[in-house]
Amino acid sequence: MIDNQIKDLIHNAATIGITSHIRPDGDAIGSVIALGLALEKASKKVEMVLRSGVSKTFRHLPGANLIKRSFATDCDIYIVLDCSDELRTGGVLKDRKPDIVIDHHSTNSEFGKVNLVEPEAVATCSMLAEHMPRWGLEIDEAIAAALLSGIISDSIGFRTSNTTSNSLRIAADLMDKGVDITNLYNKALISKSFESFNYWGFGLAKLQRENGLVWTTLSLEDRKNAGYMDEDDADLTNILSSIEDIDVAVLFIEQSADNVKVSWRARPGFDVAVIAKSLGGGGHPPAAGADLKGSLPEVQEKILKLTKEYLEKNENRKH
Ligand code: 5GP
Ligand code: MN
Repeated sequence: MIDNQIKDLIHNAATIGITSHIRPDGDAIGSVIALGLALEKASKKVEMVLRSGVSKTFRHLPGANLIKRSFATDCDIYIVLDCSDELRTGGVLKDRKPDIVIDHHSTNSEFGKVNLVEPEAVATCSMLAEHMPRWGLEIDEAIAAALLSGIISDSIGFRTSNTTSNSLRIAADLMDKGVDITNLYNKALISKSFESFNYWGFGLAKLQRENGLVWTTLSLEDRKNAGYMDEDDADLTNILSSIEDIDVAVLFIEQSADNVKVSWRARPGFDVAVIAKSLGGGGHPPAAGADLKGSLPEVQEKILKLTKEYLEKNENRKH
């Protein structure tokens, strides 16, 4: 049984390294903190690492201050969470193959020695909430806060199509640990800095539509003009996906002169993870992303062409 394998690996290790993906979202941050704190409680020496650090949105979580940007020592085992391939860790593991990979992306390449991948799970945090007790790890209030934040943010407040009654039951059990869901929900999804809204404004002013496809860009210039300090989209993608009567939304976020992050959102029935995966990225059928080489206009032209072709081929998926 995979749970027994993971339990043995964890309990036989004295030092454990934990990481997730670059530009981490709430599920990546929440899962690293939750597992990290639980392992510390089990008397392990733990290093929690995220290549891009923790965005302002999640710095209120107890344990967020323990996260570093690189590993300081050699750990007995390494665990990678909510991350579908090695490249996406941002190189923090150097040449080391992870001992355990825990993820819910259908595009996971199973790059660990042991891989626990549940594509139907609403979040990696919901997987941890279910599995941690089986590994002998206790969930206290701080751990519950991290797990619930991950579930809330990955399900966009229990709105994504993979939200089930079980997701809500897991969330309810986490609430019973004493966490304030109203506060966590507000911090994860609602409350945004003035700069975030300014940044959205630049993106929204360039919004375009062609049939069922909408798209826009966020350039480095927009980021600078808005005074926005993080490298992500401030969740503008989720706003684009709430536009009615569209099939797919695409957001291009310029990272440097020759690197663009692309985010796709699709309505149920479409599978944008297929497009993302064909370009070296990944994700879930309704929400996927990729990091692409090229200038903003180059990447935009190429991706819009591919996405339009995908939509033409999959016209019958509309419902
Ligand atoms: P977002 O567009 O919010 O960054 O990501 C949507 C989904 O796609 C998330 O589940 C995220 O983990 C995944 N994703 C985003 N970018 C990449 C990428 O470059 N590579 C892979 N493998 N997955 C990605
Ligand atoms: Mn996730």
